[in-house]
Amino acid sequence: MKPLRVLAGIVIFLGAVVGGAIALSTVLSMVASDASQPTAEPGVEPESEAIQLLHPDFTLTLAELRQLISTAPEEAQAAILARPQYFLELMKQALGLPADYLVLVDKQNRLSADYLPRDLVQLNEYSDQILLNRSDLSLRRVLMPDLLAMIEASAQEEVSLLVSSTYRSYDYQAGLFRRNVERFGEDQARTFSAEPGASQHQLGTVLDFGDITPAFAETDAGRWMRENAHLFGFSLSYPPDLEDLTGYVWEPWHFRWLTRLGTELEREFFNGIQQHFLEFYHAAEPRLREALKRETTE
Ligand SMILES: [Zn+2]
Repeated sequence: MKPLRVLAGIVIFLGAVVGGAIALSTVLSMVASDASQPTAEPGVEPESEAIQLLHPDFTLTLAELRQLISTAPEEAQAAILARPQYFLELMKQALGLPADYLVLVDKQNRLSADYLPRDLVQLNEYSDQILLNRSDLSLRRVLMPDLLAMIEASAQEEVSLLVSSTYRSYDYQAGLFRRNVERFGEDQARTFSAEPGASQHQLGTVLDFGDITPAFAETDAGRWMRENAHLFGFSLSYPPDLEDLTGYVWEPWHFRWLTRLGTELEREFFNGIQQHFLEFYHAAEPRLREALKRETTE
C-alpha cells in the first residue's frame, strides 16, 4: 500500500470519528435540553407525563384506557388497544356531537314520552328526490344531506331506495305496539315491535326501507344498503343472529343514522355492530368527557 493511500485512509477514519462525535454530542445536548426544559406554559404537561398519555387532548394513560374499555367485547378491546390514539381522536369528535345522535335506545334504555326531535322535516318536501311509500313521513333535517347523497349514489348504480317508515312519535309507537300485541301475542310482538320510548324511530334519525319484510335483504336495495349505507353514516341496527344482544330479530330494512363519524367508530372498533358501539359509548361517555382536557372543549 502506498503511503499516500494510508494517509488518506487515516484522514477518512479520523473524519468519521470526529463526525460521529459531533453527531453524538448533538443528540446528547438535545436530550439534555429536553430533560431540563421547564414547562413552558401553564396547562402544558411536562414531557415525562406527556409520553405516558395516549392522546394530547385526553388525560388518559394506557392503564386508564384499559380500565375504561374493560366491559367492551374482547375483539373491540383489542382493536382499540391496537390504535388507541386513532380511537381517542374519533372519540373526541364524538363527544362534540349533540347527545341524541349517539344515544342508546333499546329495551332497557328508553326515550321519555316528551322527547321530540327539534328539526323534523316532512319528506314530501323532497318527493322529487326521494321515493316515498306514504305521504306522512318525516326525519330530522340534520341527516338529509347524507340521505340524499346515499339515494343519489344508489341511483347511479340503478338501485332505488323506497322509504317506508321514518319518525314515529311516542304515542304513535304506543298504538303500534298495542296493535302488534293484539295481532301476534305479546311474546312474539316483542321480538320485532318496541314499546313506546324503546323505539329508535322516535329519534327521527331512523328509516325503514322497502317492504319492511325479511325479503328486503335479497333485493338489490337490501344488498346495496348492506354494502354501502355506512359510507353515508347509516347503520343496520338489528343484524342477523344477534337477537340476544339487540332484543330484536334481523331487520334488514331498519337503518339508523349515526353520522359518518359514528359508522367509522362502529366499523373500525366494534366490528360494525351498532349495539356494541352504542352500549360502550353509553357506559364510557361520562368518563371520556371527564378525561377530555378542558381547554380543548372550550
Ligand atoms: Zn324500523
